[in-house]
Amino acid sequence: MTAPLAATQPGDIAAAAQIEKRPLERYVAPAKPSLVGLPRDALAEALGAAGVPERQRRMRVQQVWHWLYVRGAQDFDEMTTLSKDLRAELAHHFSLARPEIAAEQVSVDGTRKWLIQLPGEVPGRPHEVECVYIPESDRGTLCISSQVGCTLNCSFCHTGTQRLVRNLTPGEIVGQVVLARDRLGDWQRGAAPAGAEPEKRLVSNVVMMGMGEPLYNFEAARDGLGVVADGEGLSISKRRITLSTSGVVPNIARAGTEIGVMLAVSLHAVTDELRNELVPLNRKYPLRELMDACRNYPGLSNARRITFEYVMLKGVNDSLADAQALLRLLKGTPAKINLIPFNPWPGSKYECSDWEQIEKFSEVVFNAGYASPVRTPRGRDILAACGQLKSATEKLSARERLALRAMAMTD
Ligand code: SAH
Ligand code: SF4
Repeated sequence: MTAPLAATQPGDIAAAAQIEKRPLERYVAPAKPSLVGLPRDALAEALGAAGVPERQRRMRVQQVWHWLYVRGAQDFDEMTTLSKDLRAELAHHFSLARPEIAAEQVSVDGTRKWLIQLPGEVPGRPHEVECVYIPESDRGTLCISSQVGCTLNCSFCHTGTQRLVRNLTPGEIVGQVVLARDRLGDWQRGAAPAGAEPEKRLVSNVVMMGMGEPLYNFEAARDGLGVVADGEGLSISKRRITLSTSGVVPNIARAGTEIGVMLAVSLHAVTDELRNELVPLNRKYPLRELMDACRNYPGLSNARRITFEYVMLKGVNDSLADAQALLRLLKGTPAKINLIPFNPWPGSKYECSDWEQIEKFSEVVFNAGYASPVRTPRGRDILAACGQLKSATEKLSARERLALRAMAMTD
């Protein structure tokens, strides 16, 4: 687990305590660990622990990998290219468990939202994170979480008001993609004929934009996304994976070299004064440092731009002067701009900008050459904003939760 960076000066400690939270819990591995989400080298080690001799491990990893990530096997007995004895031995040591679904909601626009249950440190007290699938005509995007709660506390974000409970493991990160493919029936059914084109998948893109700050869970995000991008498995190429950060500057260059996916940066303000309030991490890594890190993002080019996210908050950051300042700030950086209508939550002190103002703002941005900048809110009827399904279901009784859970298991 990566602990949040410590404050460097003693005088900074009080301020840092408000900027970053520390995890309350550690991940406790189950007695029978799941093979889902292990990077190849860890999988090879696991197979070794189950008695697979060294000289066979490469081949066995290849076979198990295929069953796990191309065929979506949920039982070792499906792995028919392995001997019965080996399957039994693997089942004795390991499981193929995915995270559990606590609730599933399907929006009228086809958006699906899963509330996912993850084990807690205290038995019987699980945690929950969200995962959302958004189908569009040319792609299907899965939005996944990286932490239970969040290290940070952005003032407009519901997750930011919650405690940081713990980091997700690579298995739990990969588990969200595997689970979405399970629920959508998005696996390759039989062995593909040699030389055949790979079938089109429903989940074609992944965005790490759910709960949590992925660059404060760096190793797990790196290892998990590595498995998701593996071309012989889940095969979602790095160009179709986007990691969103609120601006953890020291880890941005590392993200480029070690993870290599597309980057999105939650900018939301064009002055340090306002950004300090909206994204308090800005007090530690101010705009100038953030923009320097963006300009130096490894692999950045006009074909691989950084997406800058900008939440539209009425009367706060939505003036046309803000739009002009945004263009000046991004000048010279290969960029895309995503204007996100603010999704209000109970108790939030902001309002979403008026639609007319969003249109005017977007026109300024569009006239400067940035295409289709407004991100349409999806799944409004099922509260598809960061952190909101969780708060809605927290109000349900245990019986209602079980009913929801049962509904999630049938289709
Ligand atoms: N922690 C990362 C990724 C998760 S948040 C980050 O901050 O980038 C994903 C995106 O949703 C961010 O751009 C975040 O600022 C935005 N967001 C959070 N709460 C929101 C809300 N209530 N309405 C609209 N966008 C929100
Ligand atoms: Fe965390 Fe992102 Fe929400 Fe900020 S916007 S509190 S970094 S999840």
